Amino acid sequence: MGNKEKFDHPENSKDYKGLKVNEGISQPEPVSNESVKRFLNKRRNLLPVKDYVDGILRGDITLLSKAVTLVESANPKHQQIAQEIISLCLPYSGNSVRIGITGVPGVGKSTFIEALGKYITEGGGKLAVLAIDPSSERTKGSILGDKTRMEELAGDKNAYIRPSPSAGSLGGVARKTRETIILCEAAGFNHIFIETVGVGQSETAVHSMTDFFLLLMLAGAGDELQGIKRGIMEMADLIAINKADGNNIEKAQLAKIQYNNALHLFPKKESDWIPGVLTCSAANKTGIKEIWEQIEKYKILTEANGYFSSKRNRQATYWMHETIQEKLKRDFYDNSAIKIKIEEFENEVLKDKMSSFAAAGELLKLFSDLK
Ligand code: GDP
Repeated sequence: MGNKEKFDHPENSKDYKGLKVNEGISQPEPVSNESVKRFLNKRRNLLPVKDYVDGILRGDITLLSKAVTLVESANPKHQQIAQEIISLCLPYSGNSVRIGITGVPGVGKSTFIEALGKYITEGGGKLAVLAIDPSSERTKGSILGDKTRMEELAGDKNAYIRPSPSAGSLGGVARKTRETIILCEAAGFNHIFIETVGVGQSETAVHSMTDFFLLLMLAGAGDELQGIKRGIMEMADLIAINKADGNNIEKAQLAKIQYNNALHLFPKKESDWIPGVLTCSAANKTGIKEIWEQIEKYKILTEANGYFSSKRNRQATYWMHETIQEKLKRDFYDNSAIKIKIEEFENEVLKDKMSSFAAAGELLKLFSDLK
């Protein structure tokens, strides 16, 4: 401030006896928004969205993995970046065949994935192996997608193996896997395997994000023993009886006939595809080619009759609703005011002072009033 302006303040005139106006200090140049962002991102170890997207589109596995980590993160900032990456990758996704693979632990899923996976990559394909495993108790056998289970594929530059997102609600885990599919496809993976343990509800989630559903079974073990529900068999586009080797070959052939008969009892599929039963030995890599041929036939049939794309469209809207429901549920149960009230209302319901419906109504009203 120059002398002239100082004089302009009546407080600074010679006759003024009170407090004077001092010259202020100049402010440093404001830091540009970009530098602030870069600084903050560096601190959080984040990159600009464009870097992730460019990396994914050129097939950079490290950046793909980093983006998937953001998809899996519970941090809202990470989630926001992940959503931006997904939106930008979406136009480059979809060019793949998505295959769900299920079967009880021990049936040979990882051995099979390795055998079929190698068959695909040796034929020039690129394969991403993802998993849905919402169980929190992880025994050695159920660490789906664990690299140590698929050593050959893990060392294959045309394969990308990503273990299941860490335990959480099935809806949450499934959504993350669904989003990861988009990123993998944008990175050029034209074959996607989604592995799950065929004993719970996760196969419904897998079915809702795949084009083809493969059920692995064993010969000589009743359905009860294998824990496979009728509904899961009904979802299958192909049943493969694994471990058809050594002394097991005959038993596998018999099981093939039995399962074929069982499949005939199910209603005709909307896809017009008639599911079949094959035998294979994932360990000896026999029967693998035949299974792959079935998947290719399925793709040709359903692309020709329009089912392939109509199913994908339906799945896309299904996931929109699933995501809304999951988010609403999470917002509700994570709300601190609701957390307190829920306990109170639970007690009221337990003491028969309130009906479950009235309590739910009150809590929902409270939640919407909080907004
Ligand atoms: P997962 O739990 O379903 O992933 O099953 P794994 O792939 O880990 O296989 C379980 C066990 O069965 C392992 O000891 C495998 O070596 C064995 N196994 C897998 N496939 C075959 C097969 O085709 N034939 C035989 N004999 N054993 C197999």
